[in-house]
Amino acid sequence: MPNLFDLSTTLTVIFAALLVGNVATQLWLNARQARHVWTHRDTVPMAFAASVSLAEHQKAADYTLAKLRLGNWGILLSATVLLGWTLMGGLEALNLALRDLFGAGMTQQLALMASVTVLGSLIELPLSWWRTFRLEAAFGFNKTTPKLWINDLLKGALLGALLGLPLAGVALWLMGAAGGYWWLYVWGVWAAFNALMLAVYPKWIAPRFNKFTPLTRADVRDTANELIERCGFKADGLFVMDGSRRSAHANAYFTGFGKSKRVVFYDTLLDRLTVPEVKAVLAHELGHFAHKHIRKRLIGLFAISAGALALLSWFANQIWFYVGLGVTPDLTGPNDAVALLLFMFTLPLVTFFVSPLLAGFSRRDEFQADAYACQHADGDALQSALTKLYKDNASTLTPDPVYTRFYASHPAAMERIQRIASAS
Ligand SMILES: [Zn+2]
Repeated sequence: MPNLFDLSTTLTVIFAALLVGNVATQLWLNARQARHVWTHRDTVPMAFAASVSLAEHQKAADYTLAKLRLGNWGILLSATVLLGWTLMGGLEALNLALRDLFGAGMTQQLALMASVTVLGSLIELPLSWWRTFRLEAAFGFNKTTPKLWINDLLKGALLGALLGLPLAGVALWLMGAAGGYWWLYVWGVWAAFNALMLAVYPKWIAPRFNKFTPLTRADVRDTANELIERCGFKADGLFVMDGSRRSAHANAYFTGFGKSKRVVFYDTLLDRLTVPEVKAVLAHELGHFAHKHIRKRLIGLFAISAGALALLSWFANQIWFYVGLGVTPDLTGPNDAVALLLFMFTLPLVTFFVSPLLAGFSRRDEFQADAYACQHADGDALQSALTKLYKDNASTLTPDPVYTRFYASHPAAMERIQRIASAS
């Protein structure tokens, strides 16, 4: 039998190796991307030579490089915070202080989860502020005011507390009361919560942050309705969202459940694209639904989280799991909040190395949606719409291939445009 010390030390070593591996890989990928973008900064790729000016191309390069620089700080900050919570004893200290304050039990456990969440967000706040008011502002994208930013923050925190605390409470209660198969019950609650959120988000939550008005432009409305009907869908309504209140980035999405789905266009998108281009973008979004991409992704997510929770139920019973990650478990009281937190801290270190696989699936989905759009709308319009969006969002046209493989949810611009051109 290996003893406790061996097992916990082994876990500490694995954890440290994973953390170093994560940070090193992320910084390496960022460096690759930066070098690639910098090298191609002075030449617009052939495929875009007619539609993108050198100045626009260089702006995209500079924007990408600025985001990568900030990203590097984010990587180092997250790693330091993770180390602070675990091996450097942050979670241990907070856990003990709250146990002194509340005694062992549900109040202490909820307080622990809440304070870790709040502290974590506070630490990330300066970076988020910098991103909005320095980086985005420097490139002319930021439209939000400090007042609106703080307002969003408070609303988000209130919403997080209203939804998160009851959910955490139920999970902790089940962990303590539902026996060995608690993870199955917690998974059921979590899955139901997610399904509920999907159902209520468009109608109840999104409108707390943005204004949604029915689309009034007859030309866009008629084209969109005709397309939606021809593709065999039913829309619960076409809406325009005031995305321009916060940012100049443009987008469109299609959301909802079952037969009633709503189409949401950012006002910034409608301002920039022609009617055939809007139609092509909408056809792409409909393509995601026709191929059931969202449903497949959701099922995958549910399966993975069931596995993860089953794994947690095993780890939560091992003393070395706590000791190895810097926390002394309470041998007489519940450790469920600590187990949940340690798991949430460490799981991303492992899933990071699976992310290329998921990104690959996502890029395949994008190609499928593009192919669908070429069938049901004009491929040339899709090309010109995408080019405008790349330009307006200052997306780089020359990403590093390895970086793209690892992270990108969407195919690289050139590859995407070439496929559309050959399909249409
Ligand atoms: Zn898409």
